[in-house]
Amino acid sequence: MISRLFKLQLIRYLFVTHEAHFWEESVVIVGAGIGGLATALSLHRLGVRSVVLEQAKSLRTGGTSLTLFKNGWRVLDAISVGPQLRTQFLEIEGMVVKNGDGRELRSFAFKDEDQSQEVRAVERRVLLETLASQLPPETIKFSSKLKTIQSNANGDTQLELEDGSKLLAKIVIACDGIRSKVAT
Ligand SMILES: Cc1cc2nc3c(=O)[nH]c(=O)nc-3n(C[C@H](O)[C@H](O)[C@H](O)COP(=O)(O)OP(=O)(O)OC[C@H]3O[C@@H](n4cnc5c(N)ncnc54)[C@H](O)[C@@H]3O)c2cc1C
Repeated sequence: MISRLFKLQLIRYLFVTHEAHFWEESVVIVGAGIGGLATALSLHRLGVRSVVLEQAKSLRTGGTSLTLFKNGWRVLDAISVGPQLRTQFLEIEGMVVKNGDGRELRSFAFKDEDQSQEVRAVERRVLLETLASQLPPETIKFSSKLKTIQSNANGDTQLELEDGSKLLAKIVIACDGIRSKVAT
């Protein structure tokens, strides 16, 4: 009898000790690119806390710009960063398509096609920094590269980072771009 009780205590001890290594979060977003930051900000606007794991040491602000059309602006307005970004980037009125000799093949104004169209090229760095600046401090965990991901028996998801730290999450949202670790 004593030996059975001892065994149960030992199992409980090992289980609790093992679980104690896990850091727990309700919502984990993997990747602090445009998708990850916009998702985190959308949740924040709804009052939902999340953490964003990013493998890089800081925001990956390289690249040039992204041309955003009205669907993009609708999203940026919904998360309250549209007005701030609009003032910094001129509206593109139309396009001219030319062949190699410079002969015009086609030209059009966006608003002739759709009165409500809005096209602006937004500098990628500014977009990322604007989204990040609206998040609560400590939302983005830099130098946090996801190594493995698996579901456990009670429906939580276990994530292990390259540095050995482990997380338990209720919800994981994959925003880790091309060659996604979460998706593969
Ligand atoms: C550096 C860079 C420059 C770009 N420049 C341009 C440009 O000039 N013009 C243009 O139109 N598009 C550009 N793009 C593409 C464009 O920004 C994105 O492809 C597009 O916006 C999709 O965004 P995303 O958030 O889905 O993915 P991404 O922007 O690719 O973001 C994914 C994020 O996940 C992180 N990540 C990946 N794997 C892991 C992991 N295992 N653990 C933790 N984090 C992880 C990455 O470091 C990255 O920050 C660029 C992308 C990058 C990464």
